[in-house]
Amino acid sequence: MLRIIAVLVLLSACQRSNDSYISDIPLIEGGTNSQNIEDSFNAKQYFVGQTDSIYGLLDLVNLSSLNGRILTDVKYATTDNFMNVQLYDTISSIYLNKEVAERLSKCQDFLDSLKPGFHLLVFDGIRPLQVQQEMWEALDSIPVYRRGKFVSNPAKGSVHNYGAAVDLTIVDTEGNQLDMGAGYDDFREIAFPSLEYKFLASGELAQTQVNNRKLLRKVMKKQGFRSIPSEWWHFNAFSRVTVSRKYKRLLTESGAVEWFRLSYPKKDTVSI
Ligand SMILES: [Zn+2]
Repeated sequence: MLRIIAVLVLLSACQRSNDSYISDIPLIEGGTNSQNIEDSFNAKQYFVGQTDSIYGLLDLVNLSSLNGRILTDVKYATTDNFMNVQLYDTISSIYLNKEVAERLSKCQDFLDSLKPGFHLLVFDGIRPLQVQQEMWEALDSIPVYRRGKFVSNPAKGSVHNYGAAVDLTIVDTEGNQLDMGAGYDDFREIAFPSLEYKFLASGELAQTQVNNRKLLRKVMKKQGFRSIPSEWWHFNAFSRVTVSRKYKRLLTESGAVEWFRLSYPKKDTVSI
């Protein structure tokens, strides 16, 4: 019964705004609605439990268990993403390396002190290399030399593969996402932090939108997360080379991992 109530609370939260941050739970065909809701909830909980225990062995933590004030909406576990395809089969929570998750938890504490009642809303954390490959191939209309701005070339991998990068925004006390002037995974230049000055001057970005991005960067910088020039929502806990020497990378959702140590180049670049 408690589970049904929890689901109903989630569903009613979804109805509060079009920009809902809680994923819909799919209904299973047949049976009554309440049965369906309970069955799909149980199935989801089963996969969460399985993934929690497998990833726990890899020192990856479920962010929601670490800090319930941080909200999550795993876009790639739904069709609500730039590919319009569900990319994750079993990942339905945000997982990050424990050390990174603890830093992000402190970012929420800092946000609490700046803006009481505001929450971080996380879209993606660890991302298996296999999914990175699918994204890379889906963007094949963009030339390779430009594509790396949006999705890291799987040949080099992404900081997301190590559970050390995070995609996120901020929601206000009413549960509405702050207006950043461009949505998540918007690949247009208007999403580029590096070009904010230009779009501010042309009037395509409003000062409040830039200020909202600055708030996010201020909160993340407090714990040493670094932003990148092409996406307002993406932050790295470490550089690509440093992370490759600290953690193994995740190859598949089922928990296959490997060391992929990069050597220090003259320039240590990062992207998603
Ligand atoms: Zn990212």
